[in-house]
Amino acid sequence: MRMTEEVKFPSSLPIPDEVLSISQTLEGAGHETWCVGGAVRDNLLKHPNKDFDLATAATPEQVQGLFRRTIPVGIDHGTVGVLDSDNQLHEVTTFRRDIRTDGRHAVVEFGVSLDEDLARRDFTINAIAYHPLKHEWRDPFDGARDLEAGVIRAVGDPAQRFREDYLRILRALRFAARFRFTIEDATWTAATATVARLQHLSAERVRDEWFKGLETAQRASDLVRLWEVVGAMGVWMPDVVKSEKTRGEVGSGEWGVGSGHAVVDNLPCDPVLITSYLSRDPAATLSRLRCSNAEVERGRRIGQYRDDLPDASSDLAVRKWMATLGKSVDDIVAIAALEQPECGLHDAVERMRQSGAPLQIGELAITGRDLMDIGVPEGPAIGEILRDLMEFVLLDPSRNTKEDLLNRARTSSTFPFSPFPGGSGGGEGS
Ligand code: ATP
Ligand code: MG
Repeated sequence: MRMTEEVKFPSSLPIPDEVLSISQTLEGAGHETWCVGGAVRDNLLKHPNKDFDLATAATPEQVQGLFRRTIPVGIDHGTVGVLDSDNQLHEVTTFRRDIRTDGRHAVVEFGVSLDEDLARRDFTINAIAYHPLKHEWRDPFDGARDLEAGVIRAVGDPAQRFREDYLRILRALRFAARFRFTIEDATWTAATATVARLQHLSAERVRDEWFKGLETAQRASDLVRLWEVVGAMGVWMPDVVKSEKTRGEVGSGEWGVGSGHAVVDNLPCDPVLITSYLSRDPAATLSRLRCSNAEVERGRRIGQYRDDLPDASSDLAVRKWMATLGKSVDDIVAIAALEQPECGLHDAVERMRQSGAPLQIGELAITGRDLMDIGVPEGPAIGEILRDLMEFVLLDPSRNTKEDLLNRARTSSTFPFSPFPGGSGGGEGS
């Protein structure tokens, strides 16, 4: 026990009516029930969070018996979702303790006390309970004090806790970056000592933790640095480069941020973009994390195009570039705005969009139907001619009129046949 003066808890927390009503039903049936987890922590930090989880002495079957509409969201681990009248799901979990763990899965046992349930939780700041009806607090590991001090500390022996569940290492990093807390020494030492075991986790769980970390971090660079220093980056994202992207300070300039920020902190909060930005080989990193095919493809295009920017002072170059990149334009512009703020690409792209210049075949003043109307047969010739017309319009957007395009189609070298009886395959110009 650490000897410090008492931390004062608020006299009550703002528990939503639906959560209160679930607690009343459970307590009314004689089952002790407490609010636990992230919402208790966040409210103590004065961060509004209404997503209170309930922990109860009732068994999962008893919970299912007491409510009309329930969903067995994690029944093996004792979690039953209770639906309220607005179809909102509230998680109710039976007090439990781990009886077997292998770093990836746990087998749990019910019929234990609240204190035992709190003892299996990961960090002291996540092991505080509040009784929503009696307004009592239970904080056997001094989590409130760590909240005040800004400390992430494992409950119990950190090395053992990380061996039970390797994901807790990544959770520690996520909470540290989210609240800008420090990780307590013994917890940190145990995390670094256990980090190689992260390789045994599934890619999906690592990705979810990494993405959630990026989404909730106050500064992405904090999370990146923690993953690097603890060694998690080396295990899961070896292509992420250590560089000024996560260290160096941005000078003055458009973003105008204060000291301590790194370049990466000025990217939009978009995990796929940030991961791609940091990686030498974005597609490899994202596929290692089992991201969707669309996300891997997005990363691949970022890797392909990020070093090949057009001359922003040339409208023609910008148009052609935008036409080639399609939906990757915004990703590359976001990165270019950080790395080369003076390159002017952001403004050039905006200007081009404002001008309404067509950049994709769908924006041309004619369609394949119009080509068929002048006698082009259905088939590959249509696509070829449309691509030629796109080139033609990219050179000069004022050419995007039906008349000009039909004329061009008739004279185009891709026009594969002679549609006009007696003609030589061209329109008026040939
Ligand atoms: P978030 O805001 O990310 O939801 P949270 O603390 O609510 O934060 P959850 O993953 O929703 O995190 O878990 C709810 C609670 O369950 C945690 O506060 C913690 O007490 C406990 N918990 C979750 N994951 C673990 C774990 N891997 N090991 C031990 N306890 C855990
Ligand atoms: Mg939660």
